[in-house]
This record gives sequence, C-alpha cells and structure tokens, in this order.
Amino acid sequence: MTFATLGLIEPLLRALETLGYQTPTPVQAQAIPAVLAGRDLMAAAQTGTGKTAGFALPLLQLLTLEGPKVAANSARALILCPTRELAEQVHASVAEYAQHLPLTTYAVYGGVSINPQMMKLRKGVDILVATPGRLIDLFRQNALKLNQLQTLVLDEADRMLDLGFSEELANIYRMLPKKRQTLLFSATFSDDIRLLAGQMLNDPLSIEVSPRNVAANTVKQWVVPVDKKRKPELFVHLMRKGRWKQVLVFAKTRNGVDALVDKLQGLGINADGIHGDKPQATRQRALDRFKASDVQILVATDVAARGLDIEDLPLVVNFDLPIVAEDYIHRIGRTGRAGNTGEAISLVCADEVNMLSAIEMLTRQTLTRKMEPDFEPEHRVPDTDASGQVVKKPKKPKKPKATGGGGKRNLGKWVDSGEVAPAEPSIKPVRKVPVFNTGPRKKK
Ligand code: AMP
Repeated sequence: MTFATLGLIEPLLRALETLGYQTPTPVQAQAIPAVLAGRDLMAAAQTGTGKTAGFALPLLQLLTLEGPKVAANSARALILCPTRELAEQVHASVAEYAQHLPLTTYAVYGGVSINPQMMKLRKGVDILVATPGRLIDLFRQNALKLNQLQTLVLDEADRMLDLGFSEELANIYRMLPKKRQTLLFSATFSDDIRLLAGQMLNDPLSIEVSPRNVAANTVKQWVVPVDKKRKPELFVHLMRKGRWKQVLVFAKTRNGVDALVDKLQGLGINADGIHGDKPQATRQRALDRFKASDVQILVATDVAARGLDIEDLPLVVNFDLPIVAEDYIHRIGRTGRAGNTGEAISLVCADEVNMLSAIEMLTRQTLTRKMEPDFEPEHRVPDTDASGQVVKKPKKPKKPKATGGGGKRNLGKWVDSGEVAPAEPSIKPVRKVPVFNTGPRKKK
C-alpha cells in the first residue's frame, strides 16, 4: 500500500516524499480513507505510530478541496491538544504536510502573550491547533469565531480529561456548530473517554490498531529494584555504566525534578528539567536543547509525557513510577518511535509496589527485574505479576522500634519506616466527566 493508493492528492504526496514517508503506518492506512469519506473517528493507536499524519493528511486534503475560503477571525479546522508542547509539535507536523497547499495554519496556547495571537487570527486560519484554555480565552474576547468550523480533532483526548480539561471541553462543545466532522485520537482509551466519545461523535468508525493499553513492543522494558533514598546514586551509576547519551527521565513531582537536576548538575552532568511551574519559554527552550542533543539528560514531570516526538530517543528512565498506570505507556512511548527500538528502565522502590502491579496489569506483562550489584534494596520490593497480584512474603519478626514498625500501608501506598508519603499531592487531578447537552444531532 502507498499513500497514493489511499487517495491523497499530489501536493501532499510531494510533502511526504520530502519527509521520507514511504508506506502508511497501520493507523494511517485506516484513518485516511475514513476521514476523506467524511466519517467521525474514534482512534486508539500506540504512541509513535504516526497518528498525527493519520488525521492531518486527510484533513488538509478536505480543506483544500472543499468548503469556502476562511473568514476573518475564523478557523475551518480545530485541533485540540492537552499541552503547549504537543500543540507546537502537532502544528509543526501539520505545517510540514501542508507545505505545498494554499492553506494557513497556526498554533495558540497559554503561557505566552495573547495579543500576537489575536492579531494573527484577524485574517482567519484554515487549521488552528490550540490548547483548551487559550482557545476559550480567544473565543470570549471575540478574537475567534467557530461558526465556520468543519472539523474538530481531539488529540490525546484522555490526557485532556486527566489534566482536568473536562469543563473546558464541555464549554468548547457548546461553541461548535452541530454539523461538523469530529475525530477523536488517543493512545489509551479509558471508560470516561468512551463516554465522552459517545456524546461528541456521530456514528464514529472505531479504529484500534493495537490491543488496548499495550505498550509499544519496540521498547525493551525492565525494572531495577532499589531503596528510595538510593535512587539518585543508582541513576548516576547506571548512567555512567551504560554511557547514556540522551535520556528522558520522569520524576513524580516538580520538587523531584528540581532535586534530581540539581544533583546531576552538581556532578557536572549536562541536565535540565521541565515541569508545570516553569515558564513556557523556559520549558520549550529546555526541550529544544534536548532535541538538539545540547542537553544530555532531561528530567520531566508527566507534563512532558504525552505526544512529544524526540527523534531517535534511545532511552526513557522512570526515576519514579507514575501514579496513573496509563501514564507509564505514554512515558515509555517517547522512545521506540517510528520503527526504532528503545529502552525503558524503571527504578522501583518498595513503596511503589502497588503502582508497579497496576502497570503490569494494564500492560498485561510482568516486567523483568534486574538487580544492580551493590544496590540491592534493604526494603524488598514484593513480587508482582500481570494478574495484579502483589505477593507479600511473610516478614521475619523484627525487633520493635521506637518510631514504629517496618513497611506499613498508608493511603494505599507502601511507606517505609521513617519515610513519609510524598509531600506534594498527586499530579493527577480528580477526573471529571463533562456533562454535555446531548440533544438531537443534525444529519450531515
Ligand atoms: P506521531 O505518532 O504522529 O507522533 O509520529 C511519530 C513519528 O513517526 C514522527 O516522527 C513522524 O514524522 C513519523 N512518521 C509518521 N508517519 C510515518 C510514515 N508513514 N513513515 C515514516 N515515518 C512516519
């Protein structure tokens, strides 16, 4: 199969040739004809499988061949993304695919001045990529009208709900014309998302190119058990031993990111960090420098986990396991992209055993454990497997301590003696499902 047999027009084929795309990926092979035929879509695809081109190529074709010229302060297609970085990245891809087409594209997101965005929108843009909050601001300030909108794309829709955008999505839904095409893309599909899809989509075609919630099989994954307090030391040891060149590291909290970056920089290691407390320009600069290999180690919270496409990234390290098991799939999906192989190493301590178990259950695999000599944990990580079982071996009787007993259960997590539960709250806000007005829909 080729892109030409999928029915794409010549200017798109030319752009794909320049980019070196020869064969459509499975998600592209299914999505492109369906979108060209005007269908709504609900697509689950593994990370890094080319889903951006899966929706962008047919969308660009429809906008070129059909519909009126874009009016002032209007957009003909809207692509909603959960994070600013992803919005930038999706926009960059769309602009590349559109390089030979007479269409305009633009990206808007928060954290930067709104005025230049308002100016740019005056003439209207064919494709607008946006994060939900800034889109609503622009709409409320009359800088953007949506009555010309032909197509809505929800990219990483589950992440939008995870990040607490459910109310924004419900507001945007009310702003949209009823007659439109809607494409919903997500790497993972929770039940909340299926509910949202049921409300937003019209007779959608379901595309599932990989089994639900399975991590990319091009990524070799394993776990190194270690005591929590020795994680930084183990990280540096593994980095030197493995001569790691470019590593994306995930830590659970903003403080955790800063602490690890400080420690690495203190050792003369070229490291930088990104998290939600940093200004957008700083985040983008760190990411750009990492992509250009000017920074060797990029430490991030889950804000960086989704969608980012870093060419040939060989290694992802989970310094902490994610609280939400699905984030594990997104994190490790940053490597092993576009047919490359990658590695994902997780440093796991005893109080993360329930998270490990949840990840193994979700991905339906028991992760291989590799003990690192001299780093064997004092607090054993109980055995786990893909069934969700945590096998707790009977403990040897211990001498009573003045400060309390050994590992004990606290708020659903294992906490070692003398340790406290994480000071920062979970990075994942409570997931709310928006309630939409599901009145009768007009036929297309
Ligand atoms: P995505 O999943 O959309 O983020 O795409 C992941 C990576 O795959 C990006 O670097 C794309 O440029 C690349 N890619 C997407 N489709 C193809 C294709 N058909 N052939 C080669 N590379 C592709």
